[in-house]
Amino acid sequence: MPQLRQNIITGDWVVIAPERAKRPSDFVTRDTVKQQTKEDCPFCTNSPEYKKRLKKFDTKNIWVIPNKYPAFVEIKTKKPILSYKVENDFYRARPSTGGHDVVVIKEHDTDLPHFSKEIWIELLETFDRRYEYFDKLCNVAYTMPIYNHGQAGGASIEHPHAQIFASNIIPNLITKEIHHTEKYFEHNGSCAFCELINHEKKFKKRIIFENKDFVAFTFYAARFPFEIWILPKEHQSRYENEAKRKYHTLADCLMDVFGKLNATLNDPPVNFFVHNLPNTISETDYYHWHIEIAPRVTGYGGYEMGSGNVIDVVTPEDTAKYLRDSSKKAKVWEGKENNLKKG
Ligand SMILES: [Zn+2]
Ligand SMILES: [Zn+2]
Ligand SMILES: [Zn+2]
Repeated sequence: MPQLRQNIITGDWVVIAPERAKRPSDFVTRDTVKQQTKEDCPFCTNSPEYKKRLKKFDTKNIWVIPNKYPAFVEIKTKKPILSYKVENDFYRARPSTGGHDVVVIKEHDTDLPHFSKEIWIELLETFDRRYEYFDKLCNVAYTMPIYNHGQAGGASIEHPHAQIFASNIIPNLITKEIHHTEKYFEHNGSCAFCELINHEKKFKKRIIFENKDFVAFTFYAARFPFEIWILPKEHQSRYENEAKRKYHTLADCLMDVFGKLNATLNDPPVNFFVHNLPNTISETDYYHWHIEIAPRVTGYGGYEMGSGNVIDVVTPEDTAKYLRDSSKKAKVWEGKENNLKKG
């Protein structure tokens, strides 16, 4: 069973899940993304795996299975698992429970920048169904859908798939967002996310896409080149409460943004994730669900690792310009790639 351990100095949580990488050699020779053919791909619908695995559900374009090596072990319970174990009268730890799904896109020969609108809508509906499932049946504190694309994005199997992590803790980053936006609300009487949208719409320096329901922009205080946020324009603290018809406009937004990233950076490794209100908090005026997109084109150097502060090598105003111009397929970024390697 993986274990959650708390950093006694910062309060941050880490998951220790040795089942996921067993031998030291797994760290040394990080395999490239497995280039499976359709014949030996474990995620293709003609694989023995597809027939064998217990499916959570199976729709036209997607099938959902429990992860073989879960970071959070699924336990059906009505009670929150809150107790800590104190190790050697000192460290705080607890079993890492919640749930961990793999959301497999059935079509092997597609990938994130090329998903059809139909795939996107099914993916967004799947996130909604799993939010409800983990909240109602597993009593988790938090559920986070994520997507890894490309080797540097952490994808270990080439076949396109998302993952859903449900945990009995609130993730460190969400704790920070909640804390800071709650303070903002106390001081200003408004939602910091709503204000962020108003500000970006007013100055239009970083907006790369907008439709009637959603807006996407490069993030003012970006933690890496081309960090992008997508927010619903109307205040809504929970993803699950968003009207289903908005999946269409959200799909349009995601297709446009990933298309622009693909055109500008030539299919970069990338992650995206949904940030939502924890289940432990009822609907609020200060938190606003959103999607963050993290292209993985640079690594962190010593200062970033040591300080937690990031030195970004390109301005979000410039990255927005590159993305907006990408329809002209301007390869503006190519010459700059070498400058991205940090010392
Ligand atoms: Zn496959
Ligand atoms: Zn808001
Ligand atoms: Zn966030």
